[in-house]
Amino acid sequence: MSASPLNTSAASVSVLLQELFPLCRSLTGPGNRETLARLQRLIPLTVHEYPSGTQVYDWVIPKEWKPKAGSVKGPDGRVLIDFAENNLHLVGYSAPVAGQFSLEELRPHLHWLDNAPEAIPYRTSYYKEDWGFCLSRKQFEERFAPYGPEARFTVTIDTALEAGSLSVGELLIPGETSQEVLLSTYFCHPSLANDNLSGVVLTAFLAKELLARKNKYSYRIVFVPETIGAVAYCAHNEAAMQALDCGFVITCVAGRGPWGFKGSIHGEHRINRVVETVLREFEQPVLRYPFDPHGSDERQYSSPGFRINTASITKDKYYEYPEYHTSLDTLDFISPEHLCTTLRMHLRALELLEDDVFYENVNPQCETMLSPRGLYPSAGGGMMPGTNTGAQLDSILWLLMLCDGATALPEIAKQANLSLQELRDMAAFLEGKGLLRKCAFPHVKKNNALAAGRYEHK
Ligand code: ZN
Repeated sequence: MSASPLNTSAASVSVLLQELFPLCRSLTGPGNRETLARLQRLIPLTVHEYPSGTQVYDWVIPKEWKPKAGSVKGPDGRVLIDFAENNLHLVGYSAPVAGQFSLEELRPHLHWLDNAPEAIPYRTSYYKEDWGFCLSRKQFEERFAPYGPEARFTVTIDTALEAGSLSVGELLIPGETSQEVLLSTYFCHPSLANDNLSGVVLTAFLAKELLARKNKYSYRIVFVPETIGAVAYCAHNEAAMQALDCGFVITCVAGRGPWGFKGSIHGEHRINRVVETVLREFEQPVLRYPFDPHGSDERQYSSPGFRINTASITKDKYYEYPEYHTSLDTLDFISPEHLCTTLRMHLRALELLEDDVFYENVNPQCETMLSPRGLYPSAGGGMMPGTNTGAQLDSILWLLMLCDGATALPEIAKQANLSLQELRDMAAFLEGKGLLRKCAFPHVKKNNALAAGRYEHK
């Protein structure tokens, strides 16, 4: 089976990227709502608003941040730094300021990168009330050089930091089964393209593709501000999230560098095998990143109380490219064509996930007695056409042991060290004998024995 054709064009991807790139997104605020409103023109997203101050597990939803303007002017009135020129210039969540400062006083509030003189860094101060500006080292050297040590600089930061809400976008696409697959992306970064406007746009078009198909699984698609948004979403949808088995965290999908694959928390989970199959089919060099507790919202989804096996297929993964979290991560750094390819990879992975076949042992309590059924090797008779061999008995025993309706045949083949084709044939044979039953959908096998008690909103 090959990947279904894509309805999405690179041109439509490009239009959405250009429309969304300039918006100043953050954990909260008008830029986030504008982003979701634009996505609603493409897909029927529901927007949820979680009020500031709401306790969500160990976190509290912060105040809403509304940036309007931010500048530093020299004593001669020259504008040296201006938020209107690039939204990375203002540290995210900067508190309002109006005053005059010496360079010495200003210096702790200015951020640049010594090793990347052309790049404006991306900085935020979400959980400590502070203010600041980011600029390139070159901008600092050129723009501040003309002034002497006695110069006073005028700082104006016109922002509101007040009670409001955190916005989350959600789309539930029903399939043949109510069992859901999670597709999650984060939209809290301002004008940064690969991290993570690319993920937002890919997720939106992936949702559009799924809406146009007949799906076996249901899909839970969420657009959240990273970390606090995912935490808040889990807290507000605890039962539904605990019922999830697997999915994707969609981030950094269209850069110039190599494709990457970050595996899910349980390396043996079928989502990892499915991604490996896709990567083989696409024949692209890939960097592999085994699961680790750093990273994006898999930190929330994989936690003991949820244990959702989420994988990420990246193109220039976060942390790994020099333009990461700087003004150099522009629309020129990414390409709509790369985004479409990574979109096809995601779609193909979902197709393979839907293709998986599951059997369950009809007599799961203890061993099935094989000899009365002629399935135990005895001198003189093979149980299947061909020669009766120990290998056939191995296949039977492994299938009866591992067919729990939740483990797919490739995982059984791997654990049993048997060929997949042999197992397929034997499973069909045992189904004919009435010992295995094919399941329309896998039973969800959750490995979250540590799941916390029910969460109650206060
Ligand atoms: Zn980031």
